[in-house]
Parts: sequence; structure tokens; C-alpha cells
Amino acid sequence: MNTAIIVAAGAGTRFGGDTPKQFVRLAGRPILIRSIEKFDLCDAINSIVVVVAKETVESVRSLVGAAEFAKPVEVVIGGATRAESTQNGLSAVQGNEGVVLVHDAARPLVSVDDIRQVVRAAEEFGAACLAAPVADTIKRVADGEIRETIDRTELMSAQTPQGFSVDLLRRAFSSNHDLASATDECSLVEKLGEKVKVVAATSLNMKITTQEDLKIAEAFIAGSRDGRPRIGYGTDLHRLEPGGPLKVGGVAIDCDLQAVGHSDADVLLHAVTDAILGALSAGDIGSHFSDTDEKWRGADSRVFLEEAIRMAAERGLAIGNLDAIIDLERPKIRPFIDEMRQILSELTGLEIGRVSVKAKTGEGVGPIGESLALSATATVLLFPSYDQ
Ligand code: MG
Repeated sequence: MNTAIIVAAGAGTRFGGDTPKQFVRLAGRPILIRSIEKFDLCDAINSIVVVVAKETVESVRSLVGAAEFAKPVEVVIGGATRAESTQNGLSAVQGNEGVVLVHDAARPLVSVDDIRQVVRAAEEFGAACLAAPVADTIKRVADGEIRETIDRTELMSAQTPQGFSVDLLRRAFSSNHDLASATDECSLVEKLGEKVKVVAATSLNMKITTQEDLKIAEAFIAGSRDGRPRIGYGTDLHRLEPGGPLKVGGVAIDCDLQAVGHSDADVLLHAVTDAILGALSAGDIGSHFSDTDEKWRGADSRVFLEEAIRMAAERGLAIGNLDAIIDLERPKIRPFIDEMRQILSELTGLEIGRVSVKAKTGEGVGPIGESLALSATATVLLFPSYDQ
């Protein structure tokens, strides 16, 4: 179980204005919601704890409720300092297993892939920090005069998320007595003498502190907007053999034939998954869920489709509609088509009027017509669902 603690309890005094910074809209959506969304989309995170100031807890709960995140999101009250707030968030984390990531809500541009890299590094090394090289020449200054030029080759600026094994972070909090001066969690772990692995940030992960920062972040989002739809096409075929039931489109059809395959051999779900991966130019189903991997033996193919949809969402894309054809001689598939559309509608989040499933026979000839195999083809349209 990996948990993300997103800290948004600060007053944001440098930002100015009447609205607390985490509620300020960045390209149409609150900064806090954009930050939570990145962790919701990351497959390495299981649950999210948001730490907010006491006065904002109710409004954050209703914002989070309306956002309908896929993962459980708990909203807890923060403390007077950064460390106290993180500690309150950590108290909401169950058990001592897995890793916990701490993230500053004011960094909504963090990339999902960088989040994943921090989780992996924290799993391997116990502690990890997302960081960026320092571009400016850094001077030590006193009384308005430069005292020294510092060699920047060894300097990096620490960002968030910072990731830790849960028990290490608990230990860091319980054995440090000067929590008030800590500006990040890594420094507490460093004081324990533990090593922290650095993960280099691969994209802009700026902290929004001032109105100028907000303008820069808006410009970044506007610049990274693609806005163009994508189309994808997928096919699949499986051999048939005596047996049953026959799994197609998530429906187990009671008959005397079954499809042969490493997973549950559901041609329709495989074709739709392949179409989504195709639209993403992300390879095919075999490259993500290898048929030599024991993990997928007998797997419910819904898992593959859900993962493809998550990959699309991670890239800011949602399915607009889908159209599929099943080629099968027998049994007659028409009585099951509406159930398949219903299942696809639930898996994709599409209204049923945007899910089309058709069926054709092989006219008694060829591998389909002779009931040696069944196949499916699918086309999907992906469109931009939000701005990355
Ligand atoms: Mg297949």
C-alpha cells in the first residue's frame, strides 16, 4: 500500500488575494485538485491523504467529492508548521508497510512519471527526493555583498514529492526534536543518518508561490495543450476448442466452445484494449501484458482494458466513443450484445449510446465459419479530457 500525502495547509501569504492559494484556479481548475489528480492517475499510488487548514476542510471535502477521484482521498486537518501538517497526514496512514510520498499542493505540474520514479526509488532505497539541477550561479551574501561563489556542480534544488518507507518517516518524526525548523521531510531523514536517493525531475515541477508563478504555469499548460483527437484500431483472434463457457466482452456465454489463450482469451476486450493502446502509440497488448508472464495466466481481461484507459487518462485523454465487431459462427451472439455494451460502458465510463458492438458470422467458410476461431476488431476515438 503506497500513500501520497498532499500538504495544502499553508497560508500562502506570498500569493496575496482573498482566496487561499490551493483554491485558486490554474487553467480552469483549482491548484489543489490538479495536484491530487496527478497522484490519482499514478498506478504506483493506492490512496491519498490531503492535509488542509482547519477553516478549509469542509470546502476541500466538497471539492474532492465533486472531482470523483478513482482512489480513496481522505481530507485531514493540518498543524501550525509544515512538519506538524505532514505528521497529521502520516497519522492517517494505516500500517507500516509500503511507501509514503509527501507532496506540496503548490506543485500541480508534477509529471505522473516522476511520481512513479520517486515511488520506485523509495521502495528500493528507503528514501527518495525529486530534485532539479541549479541553473543560476549561487553566491553566499552578507551585508549586501557577495562573500563567496558556491560550486553549483554539487547543488540541486529539492522538490516534492519526497518518498519514504512508512516506518522510516515515522521514525524521522519521532526522533527529531526540532521539527519546527524543518522545511522538508528529507532533512529529517538525513538527520537520522539515512541516505536519500535523488530522482532527477524530468519536467517542469515549479512551485506556485506568487501571482507571477501562476502566469508562468498557465502559459506552460497553454503551450503543452495538444487538443487534437486520436484514433485507434485493434484486432484480436483466438482459437476455439470444445469446452465452455465462452468469454466475450466480459460475458461468460454458456455453450460447448471455449477460446484458447493465456488470459481469459476475451477477443472483444483485447481488441478494444489494443485500439486504445494504438491511439496512444503505446505498442500493443502483448507488449504490456506478455502472454509468457505467469501473472496474466487466466487473467480477467478487464484488467488490461482498465490499464489502457488509465494510460490514456495519464496522458490527458478520454474515450469519445467505440465501435467493435465480433466475428463468430456460433453460438449466436446477438442476445448477449447489450450486456457486452453495458460492461464496456461501465469499464470505459462512456454512456451506452457511445458504445457499439456488432456481430458477424463467417458464412460457414474459413476458420471463423468452421468455428476454429473467433475474432474481434475495434475502433476508438480518444479526445483531450484535460490540460496536462
Ligand atoms: Mg488476445
